[in-house]
Amino acid sequence: MDTATIASLLQEGRTFPPPEEFRRQAHIQDMRLYEEARRDPVGFWERGAAELHWFRRWDKVLEWNPPYAQWFVGGKINASYNCIDRHLSTFRKNKAAIIWEGEPGEQRVLTYQDLYREVCQLANALKALGVKRGDRVTIYLPMVPELPIAMLACARIGAPHSVVFGGFSADALRDRIQDAQAKVLITADGGYRRGGVVPLKRNADEAVAQCPSIEKVIVVRRIGGIAEQTMQKGRDVWWHEVVQGQPGVCPAEPMDSEDLLFLLYTSGTTGKPKGIIHTTGGYLTHVYITTKYIFDLKEEDTYWCTADIGWVTGHSYIVYGPLANGATSVMYEGAPDYPDKDRFWAIVEKYRVNILYTAPTAIRSFMRWGEEYPQRHDLSSLRLLGTVGEPINPEAWVWYWKHIGGGRCPIVDTWWQTETGGILITPLPGVVTLKPGSATLPFPGVEAEVVDERGNPVPPGQGGYLVLTRPWPGMLRGIYGDPQRYTQTYWSRFPGRYFTGDGAKKDADGYFWLLGRVDDVIKVSAHRLSTMEIESALVDHPCVAEAAAIGKNHEVKGEAVVVFVTVKEGVKTSPQLAQELQAHVARKIGAIARPDQVIFTSALPKTRSGKIMRRLLRDIAEGRALGDITTLESPGVIEALKEQYGEEREM
Ligand code: ATP
Ligand code: MG
Repeated sequence: MDTATIASLLQEGRTFPPPEEFRRQAHIQDMRLYEEARRDPVGFWERGAAELHWFRRWDKVLEWNPPYAQWFVGGKINASYNCIDRHLSTFRKNKAAIIWEGEPGEQRVLTYQDLYREVCQLANALKALGVKRGDRVTIYLPMVPELPIAMLACARIGAPHSVVFGGFSADALRDRIQDAQAKVLITADGGYRRGGVVPLKRNADEAVAQCPSIEKVIVVRRIGGIAEQTMQKGRDVWWHEVVQGQPGVCPAEPMDSEDLLFLLYTSGTTGKPKGIIHTTGGYLTHVYITTKYIFDLKEEDTYWCTADIGWVTGHSYIVYGPLANGATSVMYEGAPDYPDKDRFWAIVEKYRVNILYTAPTAIRSFMRWGEEYPQRHDLSSLRLLGTVGEPINPEAWVWYWKHIGGGRCPIVDTWWQTETGGILITPLPGVVTLKPGSATLPFPGVEAEVVDERGNPVPPGQGGYLVLTRPWPGMLRGIYGDPQRYTQTYWSRFPGRYFTGDGAKKDADGYFWLLGRVDDVIKVSAHRLSTMEIESALVDHPCVAEAAAIGKNHEVKGEAVVVFVTVKEGVKTSPQLAQELQAHVARKIGAIARPDQVIFTSALPKTRSGKIMRRLLRDIAEGRALGDITTLESPGVIEALKEQYGEEREM
């Protein structure tokens, strides 16, 4: 992106100061923390680390040899110990660590003491199966308690885990096991999704057939009666059988602060997934302190992050962050619309959830379904809301504020990535005045900048590249097996600075507005338009539920704007509506942004994590062969679109 003014296009001017009642009870009530951290960023993180348990204290907080950082050098720590054992000598021993709800409606509550026993038993079972410190274990499970138990058991014995989202195909699983060269796979016979069964064991068998590194497969019996015949002698073992008789005590390995804690493959919105490396001490410090301050976590809170643990959001803000804080974390197995579209609100009411963290894509679905669903339930327990994963359109933000938060809950719009390990740009909810659509300010100790092509900071209000200008403890330590790609992807464009791949602008108050991926910027007649702003303008129209904007090659203009639109329930599509939407975008942003083409579709192609795959839409619009689609949620969508697009082109 050059320095053109995408910025002034975004007309959002509403502000929301922290509600007084919230501010008064918040951990952080004034801006002092920001000033302290600005003066001494390394000291800020060090104070966070000091709240954790270390077997041996570090010698040096930060060793920075760009692009490689080491945090808490010489320190010895164990993530599992910090998430469990640390709490057992306090009243938290019998506090709920995880409240789990299965899609069919079962409930399981694990106290910290329960979690300790189950984690230790599995850790001992893994050792008995030959897993040693440093061996990689791939975990392919539905959202059941065994998933965090497995992660914490691996962390306990120093075996790095690689969690693969349970919605992925056999091929996607195979690629990730092969890349990690995992020794053991932990899976389940199946999982529930929208009332149906996802055949995990079947996918696992297909994948493992091509993965010679796998020696053992541990299988959780979630469904029962569907995988018994497939258990391979000598290779497959049932979870409940391997843990049986294992001692409920297993010492936590003192790990080096920089030892590998886990690998996690990025969601693949832009191309071939990368195995992101996260280490122990810095990562844990980062997620611990961000969870505490950003979610304003209190001892008595019931906290619910609706992400799947297969994504980094679930790793950091269902498992490691909340448990390191001794929190009570809700975990739900299934879909938000099963058995009905009010399932989330039923769960909020049932457990009196205080803090809810979800994604803009989910919020847009809720908007589309209508207010009647949240209205069926008492949501008065909610105190704080959060979003992550994509820029949130101001319309969706305001809907969330009003219909879910009842106008009393701050919304923390948190910007971060698999690579960053934890949240980096976000409000602190007790002090920062919110602007819908802005992730607001860098977290204390974090320094971000918006720069132009040459790496120079751009003036306020102008669009540019988002870069991070100093190391942070949760940062990735590399791409597994591919150091060159690490340097190339993140550190070569602006040497010494981390390139996020996202476009952003900073406004006059220093607030950051994320504008989507740089690859998603559309260049029309030398103007640079953000897909996010065009989409926000469309979603602002009363008929539109969701939209994706892309740039299609155009002889004269360079690129032409093409938009794919899904309409709200009950709305009829027509050429008139298409024209109306074109005019609407032109009115909201300017004639330059007027879409050349509006294509109505019943669904948009999304990754399994719910992000729109614009690169596939571009492939379709330009009649190219489709790129990597292993991470696509429902391949049928793309087929239908291809057909439809072909027809429209012929018209
Ligand atoms: P891949 O890197 O494989 O293409 P991905 O970037 O979708 O996949 P993630 O690491 O899960 O994988 O997502 C991080 C990206 O999500 C960010 O770079 C940004 O584009 C977007 N994002 C996350 N949170 C926000 C937010 N609050 N506001 C705007 N964008 C966000
Ligand atoms: Mg990314």
